[in-house]
Amino acid sequence: MSTPTVDSEFSFELLVCRWAELGWHPTAASSDGADGAPVIVSRQLGTQRRRWDTIVIECDPAGLAARREFGDRAIDGELLPIVRHAPAEWAYYRDALPDPGYPWRYVREAIHRAAARGLVEKRKNGNRIEIRRKRPYPDWVRRIVAVENKPDLDASAAAALSDQLEHDVETALADEVWLATGRTGDRVEPALLRQFPVEAGVLTFDFAGPGVDADAATVDWLPSELDAAAPSERFDAAEKARRRRLIAERAYGKGWRSITETMRPDCRWFEVARAGRGIVPVCGAKGRCQTESECSSRCGSFEPEPPQWRTKGWPIDGGPGQGVRELLERRRERARRR
Ligand code: SF4
Repeated sequence: MSTPTVDSEFSFELLVCRWAELGWHPTAASSDGADGAPVIVSRQLGTQRRRWDTIVIECDPAGLAARREFGDRAIDGELLPIVRHAPAEWAYYRDALPDPGYPWRYVREAIHRAAARGLVEKRKNGNRIEIRRKRPYPDWVRRIVAVENKPDLDASAAAALSDQLEHDVETALADEVWLATGRTGDRVEPALLRQFPVEAGVLTFDFAGPGVDADAATVDWLPSELDAAAPSERFDAAEKARRRRLIAERAYGKGWRSITETMRPDCRWFEVARAGRGIVPVCGAKGRCQTESECSSRCGSFEPEPPQWRTKGWPIDGGPGQGVRELLERRRERARRR
């Protein structure tokens, strides 16, 4: 299939994620993290109130290597305090862990879960549960960067976005905030830029034609570093740190290629197409990049792929669902191990 027209926010977002993997940080000469450090890229994560389109986690290389020892799955909010505070020597769990602020019986359940995943060790001592760490949980996150994607930045989109970016700057949950938009040939109009908080950076992309590579972004406005360690109106410093750790964990577990878990690669019309060094889903029935929400079991054009396709060892382009899933899973795995 020829390079698809990137005609939805969804496919634009996937290509921004791929670019971030190839070209982060946009102002650095290096194409592999701000100073050669690895990055983990994910999408559609944040807090209940605010979900970011693209998230870039800049990682400490040694910390990331140590994090990998805990496996590929995210460590969730119940498990993380246990993993972080489990002592080097056996100890009664209530002595070792911080007060959870909810009944301890939930902590006991989480300890069983953490032990079953091999994250910590547990044993019974009389009728007491004791825990011990297997390895220290590392400080693997250096910075968290949020990117809001809006390929078509007209005046009404800019107005809606400015509130969201204001919120991001105020809460400073991320260290840096960017807006990513389509390149029109003109620079982003100054009138539009004026609507955004000056702390937010602006990136422009042109994915038409060559698709995505490490040089696909132009920096139109540089962001300011936010004080992610300071308390904000909404969170004290400890709560902010806790939320940042959870966002980083979820990004680590999810990556950005988890689309096959929500879309329908088992539909006969589901294909993937190359766009430079990225790939985007394409719907053969619609003749375009479909959105994540329309490619669901509610789609009126859904047709299951014929069973005989599954035995063919289909190629990457236009392959059956399982092939697409495996391809994206392999790439997600490779991204974690860079
Ligand atoms: S027909 Fe519907 S379910 Fe099938 S690939 Fe297209 S959008 Fe997805």
